[in-house]
Amino acid sequence: MCPVPPRRIHRGRGCPVVAPAPDFGQSAHVSDGGHECCEACGFDGSVYDDVALAQSIDALGERWRALLVEAAAELRVRPSPDIWSALEYAAHSRDITALHAFGVEQALTQDEPRYPAIEADAMIEASAMTYNEEEHDAVVAQLDREARRLAACARSGGAANWSRGMTIGEQRHTVRRLLEHALHDSIHHLDDVERGLQSLRS
Ligand SMILES: [Zn+2]
Repeated sequence: MCPVPPRRIHRGRGCPVVAPAPDFGQSAHVSDGGHECCEACGFDGSVYDDVALAQSIDALGERWRALLVEAAAELRVRPSPDIWSALEYAAHSRDITALHAFGVEQALTQDEPRYPAIEADAMIEASAMTYNEEEHDAVVAQLDREARRLAACARSGGAANWSRGMTIGEQRHTVRRLLEHALHDSIHHLDDVERGLQSLRS
């Protein structure tokens, strides 16, 4: 199954799988059915059956690759000082995907593991300092690899086990919710990048 924890972010911090939607403000919530939903980007986890959820995660690398090609000369340009560039969002999604691959692996191979609460916002901010200096082909290749690793890990664990979970601080996350959040994070930020490129070019 998933072999190694991600190289970034989690160093010395236990397992910092990011709690659902820390960076989406108030737009994301959990539905009565236990699925992640987002008013900002329209994500609804309930529309993905188990097969579609894993397939959609598998496809994230290709979606990011295409969008970064489209970004072209605007790849490293922030639409405004407080909005990340296309490359910064891609690098962030790579790290979030890697963290969730690690979390899903832990939940599927250990008996309800528990980790201390984390400061997700500070962690994301610290790791983002050098995103815009990274090489974009490498970022996309890493994102693609982590997304496929996450999907493969989930499949090999078997959807019947996606109700297994892990607890961070006081919050328990099932494998299914971790998968939904990983997919949502990328979809949400693909949308951010598309809108950012539109505003740069208008
Ligand atoms: Zn969203």
